[in-house]
Amino acid sequence: MGNDTKYIFVTGGVLSSLGKGLASASIGALLESRGLSVTIQKLDPYINVDPGTMNPFQHGEVFVTDDGSETDLDLGHYERFTSIKMGQDNNFTTGKIYYSVISKERRGDYLGGTVQVIPHITDEIKNDIKLVSDSVDVVIVEIGGTIGDIESLPFLEAIRQFKTDVGKENVIYIHLTLVPYIATAGEVKTKPTQHSVKELRSIGIQPDILLCRTDRFLSKEIKAKIALFCNVGVDAVITALDVESIYEVPLIFHNEGLDDKIIELLNIWTRAPRLEAWKDLVKRIKSLKHSVKIAIVGKYTNLTESYKSLNEALYHGGFSNDCKVNLFFVDSENINADNCKEVLSDVDGILVPGGFGTRGIEGKILAAQYARVNKIPYFGICLGMQLAVIEFARNVAGMTSAHSSEFDEKTTFPVIYLMLSWYDEKTKAIQKRDISSEKGGTMRLGTYPCILEEGTLAHKAYGTYEISERHRHRYEFNNEFKEILEEKGLIISGTSPSKDLVEIVEIKEHPWFLGCQFHPEFKSRPMQTHPLFQSFIGAALKKKLE
Ligand code: GLN
Repeated sequence: MGNDTKYIFVTGGVLSSLGKGLASASIGALLESRGLSVTIQKLDPYINVDPGTMNPFQHGEVFVTDDGSETDLDLGHYERFTSIKMGQDNNFTTGKIYYSVISKERRGDYLGGTVQVIPHITDEIKNDIKLVSDSVDVVIVEIGGTIGDIESLPFLEAIRQFKTDVGKENVIYIHLTLVPYIATAGEVKTKPTQHSVKELRSIGIQPDILLCRTDRFLSKEIKAKIALFCNVGVDAVITALDVESIYEVPLIFHNEGLDDKIIELLNIWTRAPRLEAWKDLVKRIKSLKHSVKIAIVGKYTNLTESYKSLNEALYHGGFSNDCKVNLFFVDSENINADNCKEVLSDVDGILVPGGFGTRGIEGKILAAQYARVNKIPYFGICLGMQLAVIEFARNVAGMTSAHSSEFDEKTTFPVIYLMLSWYDEKTKAIQKRDISSEKGGTMRLGTYPCILEEGTLAHKAYGTYEISERHRHRYEFNNEFKEILEEKGLIISGTSPSKDLVEIVEIKEHPWFLGCQFHPEFKSRPMQTHPLFQSFIGAALKKKLE
């Protein structure tokens, strides 16, 4: 921890889903635009040790970092809005914290003392916050959950203590609340905000800045009222306006004076913010000339949070093709041979995302087949790549019972299977997998290098021979079938440097058909669209304009 590191703690009140993650990410963007070095950490109040085992239906996407941590999806926002690279220390859950404290207790580290929430859990939390504070000017810490929840109390107590530990000039608290417009009264209501702040103050935290989520700009009078009741300056009451595109949030905050207020309260000098790139981006987003309709044929289609990074990466693909991307979520369980054509007839591109479990598998295979046969741009990600290989093996190479051993252990053509040994680029050694070992332990996670084949779609999109991308899967392409599939027209366009692992496949004589074993969506940024998403949306638009 640098001596002059500053800390911003972001809490949320009234209700969940107000956009605390986006608010934290936007604060990070604004501070970076002033030349400050920043990092962001998320503290989550649930007992799972990491979100890796959580159902995306309930919790949304699991975001994967370069170092292979399975994290909360808010870390995706942090990476998309800033230049920060997230890693294992950027996300702590109650489970991870207790796990560490209990392990220390078992080792005897507490020398027989009684282990308690205060000070042992709170000390652990404070140490975890300090883990990310080396060599940055500002640490932004987002506390998950809503004020009033029992679960988040130890976190709030820890951040309350933190101010005394590091000095009051080094810490500010930002609280995000809701200021709803009540149509029958014809006015916005400040009471929920007052109550939320009262709750926060009752546990010893006086917020310095309030971000008020609302559907209209707050008048001076309303701001004054909130300021009076909540004991903050009028200029510390910020309108957090509902916006069409999330990428407008940093500019809205800036116009409301948020970054000025933050640096004033933290007593830091910075250059003026450089927000031209954000302004250009928002201008572009608001004037996109074309549009495409992309079908996402998946499983978790009721909760759009489940495919957060994917949705954003597709939008980014649109930004760099002057094109609005309309997402059409299709539950693959509802696709069958009879209705496939009808469901997918008017789409410009089909994407089958990553996934686990058997449900809806055949519907996704049908979607891949429909795209292949009808020459519709197809993008298969992780499971979507594996299913494209299965479809190709079945319907082009004549292996009618081809499958992944994940779904059919006894198939005679396991074109996708659990590889038991391969050369691992991270450890520079042969990696062995034991099928009977614990579930999570056998996953290939995080960044791996991949070498591209000259002249392929992938090579053209990336414009380079070596790439590195993030993984989260167990099953792999089975090299036993490589030759025969290649003979039938499958192109292996990317492999691990040792060639043990197939990372990208394409097919011949198709405008755009590509499957990748990794998750490119995690690395796409609004101002730097991932090459595969740029190329895919470009192909979808080309098809539409033909
Ligand atoms: N279920 C597949 C595997 O484990 C694909 C995983 C994914 O799409 N992330 O390999």
